[in-house]
Amino acid sequence: MSGGTLIVGASQAGLQLAISLRQSGDTAPITMVGEEPHPPYQRPPLSKEFLAGQAELETLEFRAPSFYAESGIELVRGERVADVALLPSRPPGSGTAVTASGRELPFDRLALTTGAGPRRLALPGADLDGICYLRDHDDAADLRSRLATASRVVVVGGGFIGLEAAAAARALGRQVTVVEAAERLMARAVAPAVSDFYLRAHQRRGVDILLSRGVAGFGGGSGRVTGVLLADGTRLPADLVLVGVGIVPRTELAERLGLTCEGGIVVDTYARTSDPAVVAAGDCTVRPHPMTGQGRVRLESVQNAVAQAQVAAATLLGRLEEVRSVPWFWSYQGDLRLQIAGLSTGFDEYVVRGEPDEERFCVLYYRQGRLLAADAVNRPADYMAVRRALTQGATVPPERAGDDSVPLKSLLAAPADAAPAA
Ligand code: ADP
Repeated sequence: MSGGTLIVGASQAGLQLAISLRQSGDTAPITMVGEEPHPPYQRPPLSKEFLAGQAELETLEFRAPSFYAESGIELVRGERVADVALLPSRPPGSGTAVTASGRELPFDRLALTTGAGPRRLALPGADLDGICYLRDHDDAADLRSRLATASRVVVVGGGFIGLEAAAAARALGRQVTVVEAAERLMARAVAPAVSDFYLRAHQRRGVDILLSRGVAGFGGGSGRVTGVLLADGTRLPADLVLVGVGIVPRTELAERLGLTCEGGIVVDTYARTSDPAVVAAGDCTVRPHPMTGQGRVRLESVQNAVAQAQVAAATLLGRLEEVRSVPWFWSYQGDLRLQIAGLSTGFDEYVVRGEPDEERFCVLYYRQGRLLAADAVNRPADYMAVRRALTQGATVPPERAGDDSVPLKSLLAAPADAAPAA
């Protein structure tokens, strides 16, 4: 490689960044380095269709193997960038990276799309065989093969990953217990009304759920896990444990470069790090709220990885593009299809539309009468309507949103404070 762009991290954000550079007409060399042996693939299905045996790695790959050479993207697989340094002299942003195997990669422009790793529990017994994490394909393949013969599965963590995997394990007929430290499920992402619904819905499907319970360690025999020990002394028998307790953004390289990192690589709305010549995108970053441009949030989502990578590519090409994007997420837990549009943080009112008892409903969140977000369960039309409303800067009047006899999309209206001045 001689100069050009170095993208560290070959997943959703890294690939999108490379594609966006090419789509913008950039012809400089692009090298993308990924630690995994596989070409970039979709991660979200790993804890859903893949675990259920309905998808394989080949079907999840974003692009055919020939795409990379055809697009002038050198994909370096199975290599970890161990060190990186910027040249003290001009041009800004240029430097050299070194992989763990000693390969030197000089660059003119640097993008960090290093993603995140699973947060690990450092508890007694944590190294026993049968204690699994789920972040990449190889984790998921290991978990899937273990699920085929397991009988008692304990899932530590009642967030997206934990509940998706719990649903898959239960559908395979396994005994499943979820242990969640917080007092409700998915507290990071959804409001209490939705957490309560999911608690009951998973219980109806035969999943045991323990809330507000801490894990103290793991018991084993002959090197294999046989149980999970809770802080209150309870011992849950288990021959397979999945730990899904969140992620840790991978900031090691950013820290080596002296970039500001606070729970992720800090970037601005243009995906610039604290060194404006270096960009970062995806799960490794914390960023201003994507709709208001205020504050700081970490968004673990495909949507954010793609939108931020597009902005980062423009920034690298010298175009600072002010892009407001509506966050969206999904979590398919068996037949319970949760779709989220917007961010509900800070809501002061919510309206439930449809029937939670029928497992088809949508919760719309407002702050001072303004629509912030919606959580839709098996209600794709409502989800799409809210996403559209947020994209257009429209709202759904809260006093009408609960009327299930009227399609939500027909209720979209300009916010009251956006009415033209008389
Ligand atoms: P992920 O994407 O890995 O599912 P989330 O942040 O959505 O991450 O969910 C992680 C869940 O794990 C949260 O509900 C959090 O409260 C829970 N959690 C964190 N630490 C523990 C722990 N030690 N024991 C049980 N649950 C935990």
